[in-house]
Amino acid sequence: MKYETIMGLEVHVELATKSKLFCACSTEFGSDVNENVCPVCAGMPGTSPMVNRKAIELAITAGLLTNSEISPRITFDKKNYFYPDLPAGYQLTQLFAPICKNGWVEIETDAGKKKINLVQIHLEEDAGKLIHDDWMDTTLIDFNRASVPLIEIVTRPDFRSAEEVVAFLEKLRSLLSFADVSDCKMQEGSMRCDINLSVREKGSDKLGTRTEIKNMNSLKAIAAAISYESQRHIDALETGEEVLVQETRRWDDSIGATFSMRGKEDATDYRYCPDPDIMPVFIDDEWIDAVRSNLPETAQDKFIRLTQKLGLPEYDSEIITRSKNLSTIFDETLQYYNNPKEVANWIIVELLSIAKGDNKGEDDVRIDCQKFAKLIELVDGRTINRNVGKKILSLILEEGIDPVEYVEKNKLGMINDTSLISSTIQEVLSENPKALEEYKAGSKKVHGFFVGQIMRKLGGKANPQIINKLLTEALKEI
Ligand code: ZN
Ligand code: MN
Repeated sequence: MKYETIMGLEVHVELATKSKLFCACSTEFGSDVNENVCPVCAGMPGTSPMVNRKAIELAITAGLLTNSEISPRITFDKKNYFYPDLPAGYQLTQLFAPICKNGWVEIETDAGKKKINLVQIHLEEDAGKLIHDDWMDTTLIDFNRASVPLIEIVTRPDFRSAEEVVAFLEKLRSLLSFADVSDCKMQEGSMRCDINLSVREKGSDKLGTRTEIKNMNSLKAIAAAISYESQRHIDALETGEEVLVQETRRWDDSIGATFSMRGKEDATDYRYCPDPDIMPVFIDDEWIDAVRSNLPETAQDKFIRLTQKLGLPEYDSEIITRSKNLSTIFDETLQYYNNPKEVANWIIVELLSIAKGDNKGEDDVRIDCQKFAKLIELVDGRTINRNVGKKILSLILEEGIDPVEYVEKNKLGMINDTSLISSTIQEVLSENPKALEEYKAGSKKVHGFFVGQIMRKLGGKANPQIINKLLTEALKEI
């Protein structure tokens, strides 16, 4: 390997505030088109923006989680450019006094641990959304997203491989989602990543020509785009046929290539200037301490609690703490039924397999934890068997049934009556002489067939341990 790829990232993360950055409009995802718009976020002249306090606190939280310095005084600046999704003709962002500076995040890859340094984290507003309608041959604009608060996390050019980039984004997602700064859903656009990339000969201290790949929103696409763009740079350096220019490029996932979007742009092109309508915001130590004292448990702390205090295996703890949503379900369910191992089992084995069947990710599973806990208790206390429990779990998810009421009403309680089970065993054996012959001839799998038949006759409700024990005894006597 003669060359090395050098990358820096700009990561935009949508903050989990209820209202927009400078007005009281809702930020709810999935509202009607242009439902959440007012004169301020529509960029009307003469309106006066007010800074959202919660957005500042979430940015401070992001700063604390990334070991950043928090600035004592912040301002907002206009970044001027024209685009139809930007109604004011400028984006309000922070150039001169960003809220966080000089942080770092530790990542871990197969090559070991590494510190990724951050230049800064700044607050800014999002733009609206253009909807291109090919059928009508028009473009429509939805301003619901206009002025939704974002933080932009800018790293130093510390990345040398796609693996490091992916590890960093996963670490950020974990840090920020566990602290409720953002849900960090790449597929919904609440976390997007721009990659600045250049290639140089190993050992050289001069940076090569840099290109930027914009708005990446899946880890798989990011890895593919980095590999493609690195190779394009190397080919250009080797053959000289293609001339590299500083430009912004777009990744086309269906074609598997990057395409030029626009040429070089510098800060001066945007004529940044402080917005005179927004007063500087002062952040004192007291405010920072208040935010710090409310920091929720990180994924890492939770992993330690699950393994060391609750005695869960590392495998289970790893799966649960990979997703903020799963670990919230775990903690809440545990409040109603305090058996960590069983709760973890039901989440990992049953809940996740149903979610997978419904094409839902770990972050999209929703369940009433109180009902979930009741169900686990019914199975754990041997009131119902596990198979009945699985069916009830589906019904909780689909229809919201109450497991205790449902079991009573449908008489699903586990059958432990040994004489009933014994007589059912005798019935099944005498009804299946052929299978019995096979068993005598040494076929062990017939045992499972008998269990299935007995269970069916007992409506699927019998205690499987008792069936197994009595069946084994009955077969011995034959
Ligand atoms: Zn508004
Ligand atoms: Mn930005």
